[in-house]
Amino acid sequence: MNVNQSIPPVPPFGQPQPVYPGYHQSSYSGQSGSTAPAIPYGAYNGPVPGYQQTPPQGISRAPPSSGAPPASTAQAACGQVAYGQFGQGDVQNGPSSAVQMQRLPGSQPFGSTLAPVGSQPAVLQPYGPPPTSAQVTAQLAGMQISSAVVPAPPSSGLGYGPPTSLASASGSFPNSGLYGSYPQGQASPVSQAQGHPGIQTPQRSAPSQASSFTPPASGGPRLPSMTGPLLPGQGFGGPSVSQPNHVSSPPPQALPPGTQMTGPLGPPPPMHSLQQPGYQPQQNGSFGSARGPQPNYGSPYPAAPTFGSQPGPPQPLPPKRLDPDAIPSPIQVIEDDRNNRGTEPFVTGVRGQVPPLVTTNFLVKDQGNASPRYIRCTSYNIPCTSDMAKQAQVPLAAVIKPLATLPPDEASPYVVDHGESGPLRCNRCKAYMCPFMQFIEGGRRFQCCFCSCINDVPPQYFQHLDHTGKRVDAYDRPELSLGSYEFLATVDYCKNNKFPSPPAFIFMIDVSYNAIRTGLVRLLCEELKSLLDFLPREGGAEESAIRVGFVTYNKVLHFYNVKSSLAQPQMMVVSDVADMFVPLLDGFLVNVNESRAVITSLLDQIPEMFADTRETETVFVPVIQAGMEALKAAECAGKLFLFHTSLPIAEAPGKLKNRDDRKLINTDKEKTLFQPQTGAYQTLAKECVAQGCCIDLFLFPNQYVDVATLSVVPQLTGGSVYKYACFQVENDQERFLSDLRRDVQKVVGFDAVMRVRTSTGIRAVDFFGAFYMSNTTDVELAGLDGDKTVTVEFKHDDRLNEESGALLQCALLYTSCAGQRRLRIHNLALNCCTQLADLYRNCETDTLINYMAKFAYRGVLNSPVKAVRDTLITQCAQILACYRKNCASPSSAGQLILPECMKLLPVYLNCVLKSDVLQPGAEVTTDDRAYVRQLVTSMDVAETNVFFYPRLLPLTKSPIESTTEPTAVRASEERLSNGDIYLLENGLNLFLWVGASVQQGVVQSLFSVSSFSQITSGLSVLPVLDNPLSKKVRGLIDSLRAQRSRYMKLIVVKQEDKLEMLFKHFLVEDKSLSGGASYVDFLCHMHKEIRQLLS
Ligand SMILES: [Zn+2]
Repeated sequence: MNVNQSIPPVPPFGQPQPVYPGYHQSSYSGQSGSTAPAIPYGAYNGPVPGYQQTPPQGISRAPPSSGAPPASTAQAACGQVAYGQFGQGDVQNGPSSAVQMQRLPGSQPFGSTLAPVGSQPAVLQPYGPPPTSAQVTAQLAGMQISSAVVPAPPSSGLGYGPPTSLASASGSFPNSGLYGSYPQGQASPVSQAQGHPGIQTPQRSAPSQASSFTPPASGGPRLPSMTGPLLPGQGFGGPSVSQPNHVSSPPPQALPPGTQMTGPLGPPPPMHSLQQPGYQPQQNGSFGSARGPQPNYGSPYPAAPTFGSQPGPPQPLPPKRLDPDAIPSPIQVIEDDRNNRGTEPFVTGVRGQVPPLVTTNFLVKDQGNASPRYIRCTSYNIPCTSDMAKQAQVPLAAVIKPLATLPPDEASPYVVDHGESGPLRCNRCKAYMCPFMQFIEGGRRFQCCFCSCINDVPPQYFQHLDHTGKRVDAYDRPELSLGSYEFLATVDYCKNNKFPSPPAFIFMIDVSYNAIRTGLVRLLCEELKSLLDFLPREGGAEESAIRVGFVTYNKVLHFYNVKSSLAQPQMMVVSDVADMFVPLLDGFLVNVNESRAVITSLLDQIPEMFADTRETETVFVPVIQAGMEALKAAECAGKLFLFHTSLPIAEAPGKLKNRDDRKLINTDKEKTLFQPQTGAYQTLAKECVAQGCCIDLFLFPNQYVDVATLSVVPQLTGGSVYKYACFQVENDQERFLSDLRRDVQKVVGFDAVMRVRTSTGIRAVDFFGAFYMSNTTDVELAGLDGDKTVTVEFKHDDRLNEESGALLQCALLYTSCAGQRRLRIHNLALNCCTQLADLYRNCETDTLINYMAKFAYRGVLNSPVKAVRDTLITQCAQILACYRKNCASPSSAGQLILPECMKLLPVYLNCVLKSDVLQPGAEVTTDDRAYVRQLVTSMDVAETNVFFYPRLLPLTKSPIESTTEPTAVRASEERLSNGDIYLLENGLNLFLWVGASVQQGVVQSLFSVSSFSQITSGLSVLPVLDNPLSKKVRGLIDSLRAQRSRYMKLIVVKQEDKLEMLFKHFLVEDKSLSGGASYVDFLCHMHKEIRQLLS
């Protein structure tokens, strides 16, 4: 895995790609690209004499500055938890109002094209009429299976219908806790009316529970017979119409007894035999061997509803059932990819290559296309025509993280300085110089790869071409040979034609009664004293260029003069919050080192000054207004860090009222819960964006604070929202301080504008993320950090060409932490196809889910949640039905056939459908939903992947001395063994589940108590004990936290304890208490939907 190891050059664009000796940067010293270094790529000084095609030796060029210290490592000194490269962000999109939930079939015209050019490494199955190989055939005996075994659903319909029962749930976690701090020991009042008697399942040994389905020795009798009865039109549309969104299942009576059952219930299809390692019953190691007959499938949830099954006349129930081990397993897919693709570097020279999964550790070598850490696509092979795209219904989207932090062994983008002439661009479409531009006429002109315009090459950029038509200095210039690089921007790219000043950070602290009482203010002020030494800085800079300022507030605002010449800080109170102004300019924004004594004095005094406050009311909009005005007065961009505790009810602009109403759930008005209460917040956000003022909001609510409204400004300005419900210093300080340290230190690009250009035939039509848009093409970001992604959807506006493929270029103009104006460019070339099979062979399900979740989460702002869920289900069914119809070999209707690289689409989509935003449980508050909704909107693919399908790691299965992370098991209760301990994480939450029969020695080693019963439920810190198991588990927890952008607080859950209900919420393959379907049931339902589409 050595970055520098030489890799056989892959001919990307038809030419050999030398390894770039000259570009080897000193291995990332911990600096993220944006902070980049400072050594700009040497400006070009005239034609290079006699350049030979040999790979440049990196000679004359100053070593690309190895980037500035990555925010992460360098500053780790502060003791904060190290963080991984993936972060989360916050969110929301531009003018959401414009977006409607209607997306039907594709929509635009397409064209057709030529012959495939790029090679397709990965999935090689031949496509042809009957390409049996590539498909995953899972013989889901359709609905019959489930109907035969599972009791009919309650009339209310749990599945996808509105979970009617939900609201009735009695209690609820008062302060709610999934996303906030969870009050320990709280019982979960969730009603169990829906039949979850299974909670007391004493024996959880996986093997015994699952299904009774006996794996066929070989494909067994898979009979034609089944087709008969199952044919569309015949058995379907039966009486079971109780569930509107569900296709009813075949009425039993329609099937002649004898035949009907055999088919579906018979032995599983030969799917195992087809090169489907993933389907082997034993894939999960400890689980899954042959299962014994199981009368009661899904014991944990006996009452699992099926989709429309009908009790009907008594029939002989075959004791067989769909075997959970026989359906596609996320764990297996992840493991296979790790084994197959984690060993070789991913070299980006080949067009249209599908990268390894986000769950695989791999090294990237940039040879002309942007790293998947910057851009991931739903498909790397785009249909040539809009008709094809419409038919397939596969969304064409790219998830872009322009400032992604790279791992230490990958180089940050080189900075290219073209001097006063600035970056070279196409005269017509303004695309930036990139490896795909074609030089012609001996090098005197170049043809734009995006719009085909012929441009003159400026004299100072002229270079000769070699016999292949490539510039001889191509490998010497990042912009001619790499997928990602930066240009230093000229003054033309700056606001008001003036180079920017360094940005500023303003800390705005709520000092009302609640903030003081909880100890928050004291904790925060103490922390800031040391944290200010770790503000982001560039390259080798000794100190950060960022200036700081301080404001405290409740109903009024207090500004502080911390000028270095003062002996003590001075406070100025502004009580006229209706017409906010900044009372001082000189002395408000200062250099930390120069004013250190005054700042320290101020931070010492703040907690004392307000110690006896009785003021409970706060304002909010005036606070942001003040910060923004201060930046405006100082003529700089910057970030406001707001620490806020309550619903702003004080008389002032943006005053809010408590409008939380759970009765709206599942009504047409549910969307109002996600919409801001007043337009004042959007208006303010627009002003902030214009000023380059980004807001990071830290919330510490004891009750409803209307996150949907308060998060509007952070979302539209590219900021982040953090929420610590029922904050208490003793329980939550570690989490809060870890998040704060990371947030303050991370590298940010300010006052940014992003534009995505595409080659002729497709164009960017829709955007998702935390930003603002005032027109249809420019994504405006007051701030953008390395955790945030922008998802872009494309549509055809013309026919694409197989030979030339499709190109994307993402250009981000931003101001660095030191005040340097830069352009970061990412290029990506995709293949185009005339065969649907090529599309289906080059999709990336994790990215598809990222897009679909964001699409749905934005949809809830405008449409009933149920309609949003239905749209997703329909789209998924259309995608799979199109594959079945056009790409799979003919087979019986009883078979569910999934494209290999989309075989996890159903399980992942089901996780999205039953997520808290789309199908909330009784314990999920309105604020939690709004919070998660905005978080997901700017998550990257790795984050959505683990967020929707959590990782469940067994801790005592592997040898204690093993140092590798344990292999996860599927997120289902039946995978839990009561003699084991598991960690579950989803990027926001972390649970340690302890089985009731865990060995006493293990209990002692981990908890330092003598028995299971003595373990404190809800514990959030494991005792530090000096034994191998304790060290290993604590080490693993640290490692998991380091991989996530937000600190995950630990919650210890004991089997059969009250808290277990909370934990089970994350076992996403099971039926959920809020009515979400189990994986097996959903797969059956999806199968049915597909068959209906095909009939
Ligand atoms: Zn052009």
